[in-house]
Amino acid sequence: MSQKGNYYVAVIGGAVAGSVAAEILADHGIRVAVIEQNKRPYGKIEDGLPRWHVEQRKKEYELIAGRLNKPGISFVPCTKLGSDISFEELTQQWGFTAVILANGAWRDRSVGVDGSDEFINKGLVYQNPFIYWYNHKNEMTYDGPRYEAPDEALVLGGGLASIDVVKVLQLENYEKALRARGIHAHMHDLEKKGIAVFCKSQGIDPLSLGVKGCLLIYRRRIQDMPLAQPPEKATPEQIAKTESVRLKVLKLAQEKFLFRFQDRRITQGMIVENGRLVGLKVSETLVEGRKATAIPGTEHELRAPLIISSIGSIPEFIPGVIMKGEYYDYKDWDMGQYAHSERVFGVGNVVTGQGNIRLSMVHSQHVANRLIQEYIGVGEDGSRDLSGFTAAAEARGTAQATAVKEKIKALPALTNEQMKQIDSRVRERQMKVGYSSDYNSWIAKVTPPDLE
Ligand SMILES: Cc1cc2nc3c(=O)[nH]c(=O)nc-3n(C[C@H](O)[C@H](O)[C@H](O)COP(=O)(O)OP(=O)(O)OC[C@H]3O[C@@H](n4cnc5c(N)ncnc54)[C@H](O)[C@@H]3O)c2cc1C
Repeated sequence: MSQKGNYYVAVIGGAVAGSVAAEILADHGIRVAVIEQNKRPYGKIEDGLPRWHVEQRKKEYELIAGRLNKPGISFVPCTKLGSDISFEELTQQWGFTAVILANGAWRDRSVGVDGSDEFINKGLVYQNPFIYWYNHKNEMTYDGPRYEAPDEALVLGGGLASIDVVKVLQLENYEKALRARGIHAHMHDLEKKGIAVFCKSQGIDPLSLGVKGCLLIYRRRIQDMPLAQPPEKATPEQIAKTESVRLKVLKLAQEKFLFRFQDRRITQGMIVENGRLVGLKVSETLVEGRKATAIPGTEHELRAPLIISSIGSIPEFIPGVIMKGEYYDYKDWDMGQYAHSERVFGVGNVVTGQGNIRLSMVHSQHVANRLIQEYIGVGEDGSRDLSGFTAAAEARGTAQATAVKEKIKALPALTNEQMKQIDSRVRERQMKVGYSSDYNSWIAKVTPPDLE
């Protein structure tokens, strides 16, 4: 017989959203298995925020660990939904009351030119693997793909993540050029002070180093870049103010990191030579509201040793999960209720992707805009407290998970026997991947000693 209060939920992904959801459910007496593809469950915090955000990353790791350590939560690492366990197996055979997808947004939006993906790693790289490499490349045990960061690379983007990519390229190239002059600049110094100021402090004119700098292109105008956000239902004055903040932020970022920029550029085609992507054909655009259309007769070539596309992150395909456009198919987007099962929900970036800060920001507009400036490294007070970003993600995750919890409690409870069966499957999987004790010992075991 089913026992009142017997619920067992699988949460896929153990980062900000997954750990928040797991904690809320566990605090309400619901058993939770957090199924995570990686050894460490820190998601975008470890692999997406560039490694110069040292303090912020550490703080978030601790918060996530604190949540996943709560009684009633079993952590199952090294288990990818869609390959190690299928969606069908998990939702129909394991017997969970419900499944919460908190697997984030790890698929880069395609460049959008037919056939471009043939050139991945042959002149074309996407932002997510590029930043992953940058964050982990100095670890002795890193065995993932290795990328070059050549001077004069071309970056497609306009959002915060594309500024991260630009900064990585500039820091790598100036570090190299300074080293050639016998100056060992530490990445953290260059990033914090800015390249121009650092060079000056060494008595060097940055122009004399011969670095030409990467080129960032954006399809709308500078004042449309999502580097500041207007309030909801903004007045024309508020919109004008936001636009001037965007102009200022980009100008400060260019002054500090010395990259080149062109706005109103749209990709039209590829330049391929000897099986490698060596440039893009782009046109200037006419911008009307959110619409940017190519202006006939303005097509020209932009050649580059590497093209990095940073135009948005969306959820990965999971076989068996039905998509609606770029996202999983939800019938209720606020709550993340999946349209094809009453027992499947989405929380966190897997529902929205990452990018629309206005949607999730719980702070005032002023704070939101200041946070973005601090994030880019051009903020006036020089503080690096970025907790507002994750606080927003946590707040939204909390609201979603609280609503999901109510839905779960309305589902039929499980019998003691069913609870035991799920427990033993969870345990079996943990044993298979070598997770034999507790969360803290596991993390101590799998954390590379030289993780930055
Ligand atoms: C500059 C900046 C801007 C931000 N903007 C926003 C914003 O606009 N909106 C917002 O909500 N937050 C934003 N944030 C906050 C925050 O970074 C992210 O929201 C948050 O880290 C995302 O957490 P998540 O748990 O949803 O996803 P992730 O951190 O991506 O975690 C997903 C986890 O799932 C795991 N996983 C993925 N696929 C599978 C699978 N198939 N099987 C098992 N495990 C899997 C991953 O390994 C990962 O651990 C921003 C942060 C910064 C610094």
